[in-house]
Amino acid sequence: MEKELLIDEDEIKEKVRELARELDRKYVDKDPLFVGVLKGSFIFLSDLIRSMDADVEIDFVDVECYSDMEAGDPELIMEGTSSFEDRDVVVVEDIVDTGRTLEFLKSFFSSKDVASLEFCTLLKKPEGHEFDVDPDYVGFDIPDYFVVGYGLDVNGKFRGLNGIYYVVDDE
Ligand code: 5GP
Repeated sequence: MEKELLIDEDEIKEKVRELARELDRKYVDKDPLFVGVLKGSFIFLSDLIRSMDADVEIDFVDVECYSDMEAGDPELIMEGTSSFEDRDVVVVEDIVDTGRTLEFLKSFFSSKDVASLEFCTLLKKPEGHEFDVDPDYVGFDIPDYFVVGYGLDVNGKFRGLNGIYYVVDDE
C-alpha cells in the first residue's frame, strides 16, 4: 500500500499543545472526564492529557463503525467503567468523517445525565456536515483522504507511525 505524508510529527505536536491550552482554559478548575473513542484516539488522548495542566480523568468507549474502508452503522461495543452522571465529559475522537459516530455518541452521552458534553477531534473531513455535529475542538481540517498513522489504522496496521499519511489510491 502506497502512502504519502500529510501532517508531520512536529505539526501534530504543536497542534496538540494548542488544543491542550484551549481545553485547559475551560477545564483547569473542573474535574473533567475525557472519553477516548477506541481504538484510533488512544495516542492523541495520551499526548493531549500530558500537554494539559488540568488533572483529567480518562475512560474509553469502543464504537465499531468501519469494516475495512466502508462506512457502516455505529455500534457501541464497549461502554467504559465510569459513571458519566453529573460529569463534565469531553469525547476525544481521532477523526470525524461523516459525523455519524459523533452524532451517535452525542445521543448516548446525553442519555447519561452528564453535566456538560463537548467533542474534541484531531482530524475532521469535509463530510462532517452530513450529520448535525460540530466538534467543539478540531485539530486539522483535512481533505477527503483515507488517512493512517498516529493511532489511525487500515486493517489494524500503521497505528504507530508518528505522522499522519494518506493512502494513495493505486487502482
Ligand atoms: P464517521 O462516523 O465520522 O463517519 O467516522 C468516524 C470513524 O471512522 C473514525 O473514528 C475512524 O475510526 C473511521 N475513519 C473515518 N475516516 C477515516 C480515515 O481516513 N482513516 C481511518 N483510519 N479511519 C477513518
